[in-house]
Amino acid sequence: MSHSLRSNADVGSQPQAEACLQARFAQAARPTLISAWSCAACGKTYFVEIRARECCCGVRQCSRCKGLFAASGFQAVCDGCVARLDPERWLGKDLCEWDGQLPLFNNVSDRFFFDEDDLLEHVSDLSPEDVAEMRLSPCVENKPREFLMSEFLEDELPTDFDSLPGEEAINRTVNEWIEAHRPFSFVPDPRRRLDALAVLKSLGWTPASAANETETEIETETSVASPPDLNGAADSRPDRREGDDSDG
Ligand SMILES: [Zn+2]
Ligand SMILES: [Zn+2]
Repeated sequence: MSHSLRSNADVGSQPQAEACLQARFAQAARPTLISAWSCAACGKTYFVEIRARECCCGVRQCSRCKGLFAASGFQAVCDGCVARLDPERWLGKDLCEWDGQLPLFNNVSDRFFFDEDDLLEHVSDLSPEDVAEMRLSPCVENKPREFLMSEFLEDELPTDFDSLPGEEAINRTVNEWIEAHRPFSFVPDPRRRLDALAVLKSLGWTPASAANETETEIETETSVASPPDLNGAADSRPDRREGDDSDG
Protein backbone atom coordinates (compact mmCIF):
# COMPACT_ATOMS: atom_id res chain seq x y z
CA MET A 1 0.00 0.00 0.00
CA SER A 2 2.92 2.35 -0.53
CA HIS A 3 0.81 4.46 -2.90
CA SER A 4 -1.30 5.59 0.04
CA LEU A 5 1.66 6.85 2.04
CA ARG A 6 2.07 10.59 2.11
CA SER A 7 4.40 13.15 3.56
CA ASN A 8 3.36 14.56 6.92
CA ALA A 9 2.26 17.79 5.23
CA ASP A 10 -0.49 15.90 3.36
CA VAL A 11 -1.93 14.01 6.29
CA GLY A 12 -4.71 16.51 6.90
CA SER A 13 -5.96 16.34 3.33
CA GLN A 14 -9.43 14.80 3.96
CA PRO A 15 -10.88 14.72 0.44
CA GLN A 16 -7.79 13.03 -0.94
CA ALA A 17 -7.80 10.38 1.80
CA GLU A 18 -11.45 9.65 1.19
CA ALA A 19 -10.92 9.36 -2.55
CA CYS A 20 -8.16 6.88 -1.85
CA LEU A 21 -10.43 4.76 0.34
CA GLN A 22 -13.15 4.87 -2.28
CA ALA A 23 -10.76 3.76 -4.99
CA ARG A 24 -9.55 0.86 -2.87
CA PHE A 25 -13.11 -0.12 -1.96
CA ALA A 26 -14.25 0.02 -5.60
CA GLN A 27 -11.46 -2.33 -6.68
CA ALA A 28 -11.87 -4.76 -3.81
CA ALA A 29 -14.47 -7.03 -5.44
CA ARG A 30 -15.53 -8.14 -8.88
CA PRO A 31 -18.66 -9.92 -10.12
CA THR A 32 -18.45 -13.69 -10.48
CA LEU A 33 -20.90 -16.10 -12.04
CA ILE A 34 -21.22 -19.21 -9.89
CA SER A 35 -21.83 -22.26 -11.98
CA ALA A 36 -23.69 -25.27 -10.67
CA TRP A 37 -24.97 -28.48 -12.20
CA SER A 38 -28.39 -30.05 -11.94
CA CYS A 39 -29.37 -33.66 -12.36
CA ALA A 40 -31.35 -33.79 -15.61
CA ALA A 41 -33.75 -36.33 -14.07
CA CYS A 42 -34.57 -35.07 -10.58
CA GLY A 43 -33.31 -31.49 -10.70
CA LYS A 44 -31.12 -31.75 -7.61
CA THR A 45 -28.35 -29.15 -7.82
CA TYR A 46 -24.65 -29.75 -7.15
CA PHE A 47 -21.54 -27.60 -7.33
CA VAL A 48 -19.57 -30.59 -8.50
CA GLU A 49 -20.47 -31.61 -12.07
CA ILE A 50 -19.72 -35.30 -11.62
CA ARG A 51 -22.12 -35.53 -8.69
CA ALA A 52 -24.98 -34.19 -10.80
CA ARG A 53 -24.15 -36.61 -13.62
CA GLU A 54 -24.05 -39.57 -11.25
CA CYS A 55 -27.21 -38.58 -9.37
CA CYS A 56 -29.92 -40.53 -11.20
CA CYS A 57 -28.53 -41.88 -14.47
CA GLY A 58 -27.15 -45.19 -13.20
CA VAL A 59 -23.72 -44.54 -14.69
CA ARG A 60 -20.75 -43.76 -12.48
CA GLN A 61 -17.19 -42.67 -13.07
CA CYS A 62 -14.65 -45.04 -11.57
CA SER A 63 -12.76 -43.32 -8.77
CA ARG A 64 -9.55 -45.08 -9.79
CA CYS A 65 -9.34 -45.26 -13.60
CA LYS A 66 -11.97 -42.54 -14.34
CA GLY A 67 -13.70 -44.89 -16.81
CA LEU A 68 -17.50 -45.09 -16.87
CA PHE A 69 -19.39 -48.12 -15.65
CA ALA A 70 -22.99 -49.14 -14.93
CA ALA A 71 -23.49 -48.44 -11.25
CA SER A 72 -24.53 -51.19 -8.92
CA GLY A 73 -25.12 -50.45 -5.27
CA PHE A 74 -22.28 -48.68 -3.48
CA GLN A 75 -19.54 -49.59 -5.92
CA ALA A 76 -17.15 -46.67 -6.43
CA VAL A 77 -14.69 -48.48 -8.70
CA CYS A 78 -15.32 -50.34 -11.94
CA ASP A 79 -15.17 -54.13 -12.19
CA GLY A 80 -11.81 -53.93 -13.96
CA CYS A 81 -10.33 -51.95 -11.10
CA VAL A 82 -11.92 -54.26 -8.53
CA ALA A 83 -10.15 -57.14 -10.28
CA ARG A 84 -6.92 -55.15 -10.19
CA LEU A 85 -7.39 -54.67 -6.43
CA ASP A 86 -5.33 -57.81 -6.26
CA PRO A 87 -7.71 -60.52 -5.05
CA GLU A 88 -4.87 -62.85 -4.14
CA ARG A 89 -3.40 -60.37 -1.72
CA TRP A 90 -6.84 -59.80 -0.24
CA LEU A 91 -7.50 -63.51 0.14
CA GLY A 92 -4.03 -63.93 1.61
CA LYS A 93 -5.03 -61.91 4.67
CA ASP A 94 -6.23 -63.78 7.75
CA LEU A 95 -9.96 -64.37 7.62
CA CYS A 96 -11.11 -63.54 11.11
CA GLU A 97 -14.38 -63.60 12.95
CA TRP A 98 -15.85 -60.17 13.66
CA ASP A 99 -15.59 -59.25 17.33
CA GLY A 100 -18.36 -56.66 17.02
CA GLN A 101 -15.86 -53.77 17.16
CA LEU A 102 -16.35 -50.74 14.96
CA PRO A 103 -15.33 -49.08 12.74
CA LEU A 104 -15.21 -51.39 9.76
CA PHE A 105 -13.74 -50.45 6.38
CA ASN A 106 -15.01 -51.45 2.95
CA ASN A 107 -12.03 -51.53 0.59
CA VAL A 108 -14.25 -51.52 -2.51
CA SER A 109 -16.11 -48.32 -1.66
CA ASP A 110 -13.18 -46.82 0.32
CA ARG A 111 -15.46 -46.17 3.26
CA PHE A 112 -15.39 -46.45 7.03
CA PHE A 113 -18.46 -47.47 9.02
CA PHE A 114 -18.64 -46.10 12.52
CA ASP A 115 -22.06 -47.44 13.35
CA GLU A 116 -24.11 -50.48 12.47
CA ASP A 117 -27.05 -48.57 11.03
CA ASP A 118 -24.74 -46.79 8.63
CA LEU A 119 -23.41 -50.12 7.38
CA LEU A 120 -26.89 -51.62 7.10
CA GLU A 121 -28.10 -48.61 5.13
CA HIS A 122 -25.07 -48.88 2.86
CA VAL A 123 -26.01 -52.43 1.86
CA SER A 124 -29.81 -52.06 1.99
CA ASP A 125 -30.24 -52.45 -1.79
CA LEU A 126 -27.67 -55.18 -2.28
CA SER A 127 -28.04 -58.83 -3.10
CA PRO A 128 -26.05 -61.47 -1.18
CA GLU A 129 -23.78 -61.72 -4.25
CA ASP A 130 -23.05 -57.98 -4.11
CA VAL A 131 -22.36 -58.22 -0.40
CA ALA A 132 -20.03 -61.15 -0.92
CA GLU A 133 -17.95 -58.86 -3.16
CA MET A 134 -17.45 -56.35 -0.39
CA ARG A 135 -13.99 -56.35 1.10
CA LEU A 136 -14.62 -55.65 4.71
CA SER A 137 -11.65 -55.05 7.00
CA PRO A 138 -11.65 -54.69 10.75
CA CYS A 139 -9.85 -51.53 11.80
CA VAL A 140 -7.02 -50.82 14.15
CA GLU A 141 -6.44 -47.66 16.11
CA ASN A 142 -3.74 -45.19 15.11
CA LYS A 143 -2.08 -45.41 18.52
CA PRO A 144 -0.86 -42.02 19.75
CA ARG A 145 2.78 -41.79 20.80
CA GLU A 146 3.75 -41.19 24.38
CA PHE A 147 4.24 -37.47 24.98
CA LEU A 148 7.61 -36.24 26.23
CA MET A 149 8.14 -32.51 26.62
CA SER A 150 11.89 -32.85 25.99
CA GLU A 151 11.12 -34.64 22.73
CA PHE A 152 8.53 -32.02 21.76
CA LEU A 153 11.12 -29.25 22.25
CA GLU A 154 13.99 -31.30 20.82
CA ASP A 155 14.85 -28.88 18.00
CA GLU A 156 14.71 -25.82 20.23
CA LEU A 157 16.54 -27.04 23.31
CA PRO A 158 20.29 -26.41 23.69
CA THR A 159 22.45 -29.47 23.12
CA ASP A 160 23.86 -29.35 26.66
CA PHE A 161 20.48 -29.09 28.40
CA ASP A 162 20.06 -31.18 31.49
CA SER A 163 16.42 -31.39 32.46
CA LEU A 164 13.24 -29.35 32.05
CA PRO A 165 11.60 -27.97 35.18
CA GLY A 166 8.43 -29.89 35.97
CA GLU A 167 8.70 -32.08 32.89
CA GLU A 168 7.53 -35.22 34.64
CA ALA A 169 4.30 -33.60 35.80
CA ILE A 170 3.61 -32.14 32.34
CA ASN A 171 4.27 -35.50 30.67
CA ARG A 172 1.95 -37.24 33.08
CA THR A 173 -0.85 -34.69 32.56
CA VAL A 174 -0.64 -34.81 28.76
CA ASN A 175 -0.38 -38.59 28.60
CA GLU A 176 -3.37 -38.96 30.90
CA TRP A 177 -5.31 -36.61 28.65
CA ILE A 178 -4.32 -38.63 25.57
CA GLU A 179 -5.32 -41.85 27.29
CA ALA A 180 -8.69 -40.40 28.30
CA HIS A 181 -9.47 -39.11 24.80
CA ARG A 182 -8.15 -41.79 22.48
CA PRO A 183 -8.84 -43.28 20.01
CA PHE A 184 -8.37 -40.40 17.60
CA SER A 185 -8.38 -42.27 14.31
CA PHE A 186 -8.34 -45.73 12.72
CA VAL A 187 -6.82 -47.52 9.75
CA PRO A 188 -7.98 -50.72 8.06
CA ASP A 189 -6.14 -53.67 9.57
CA PRO A 190 -3.52 -54.56 6.94
CA ARG A 191 -3.36 -58.21 8.00
CA ARG A 192 -6.94 -59.30 8.65
CA ARG A 193 -10.14 -59.48 6.64
CA LEU A 194 -13.77 -60.27 7.42
CA ASP A 195 -16.52 -62.28 5.76
CA ALA A 196 -18.90 -59.43 4.88
CA LEU A 197 -21.92 -61.71 4.57
CA ALA A 198 -21.30 -63.22 8.01
CA VAL A 199 -20.86 -59.75 9.54
CA LEU A 200 -24.10 -58.49 8.03
CA LYS A 201 -26.05 -61.58 8.98
CA SER A 202 -24.89 -61.13 12.57
CA LEU A 203 -26.42 -57.65 12.38
CA GLY A 204 -29.74 -59.08 11.21
CA TRP A 205 -29.31 -58.01 7.60
CA THR A 206 -31.60 -59.56 4.99
CA PRO A 207 -31.15 -59.20 1.23
CA ALA A 208 -33.18 -56.42 -0.44
CA SER A 209 -35.37 -58.91 -2.34
CA ALA A 210 -36.44 -60.65 0.88
CA ALA A 211 -36.91 -57.33 2.68
CA ASN A 212 -39.10 -56.08 -0.20
CA GLU A 213 -41.77 -58.63 0.56
CA THR A 214 -42.31 -57.36 4.07
CA GLU A 215 -41.17 -53.74 3.90
CA THR A 216 -42.45 -52.53 0.56
CA GLU A 217 -43.57 -49.19 1.95
CA ILE A 218 -40.23 -48.42 3.55
CA GLU A 219 -38.40 -49.31 0.34
CA THR A 220 -40.60 -46.90 -1.60
CA GLU A 221 -40.04 -44.15 0.94
CA THR A 222 -36.26 -44.36 0.83
CA SER A 223 -36.12 -44.22 -2.96
CA VAL A 224 -37.62 -40.71 -3.02
CA ALA A 225 -35.04 -38.13 -4.12
CA SER A 226 -33.75 -35.58 -1.64
CA PRO A 227 -34.79 -31.94 -2.04
CA PRO A 228 -32.51 -29.67 -4.13
CA ASP A 229 -29.39 -28.71 -2.29
CA LEU A 230 -26.70 -26.35 -3.50
CA ASN A 231 -23.98 -27.65 -1.28
CA GLY A 232 -22.18 -30.53 -2.94
CA ALA A 233 -20.37 -31.33 0.30
CA ALA A 234 -23.62 -31.61 2.21
CA ASP A 235 -24.95 -34.19 -0.21
CA SER A 236 -26.34 -37.01 1.86
CA ARG A 237 -24.73 -39.61 -0.35
CA PRO A 238 -21.45 -40.95 1.02
CA ASP A 239 -18.32 -39.62 -0.58
CA ARG A 240 -17.08 -42.31 -2.87
CA ARG A 241 -14.26 -40.45 -4.51
CA GLU A 242 -11.87 -40.00 -1.64
CA GLY A 243 -9.31 -42.40 -0.37
CA ASP A 244 -6.55 -44.47 -1.77
CA ASP A 245 -5.94 -48.11 -2.23
CA SER A 246 -5.99 -49.31 1.34
CA ASP A 247 -6.06 -52.85 0.08
CA GLY A 248 -2.31 -52.92 -0.17
ZN1 LIG B 1 -31.06 -37.02 -9.69
ZN1 LIG C 1 -11.76 -48.36 -12.93
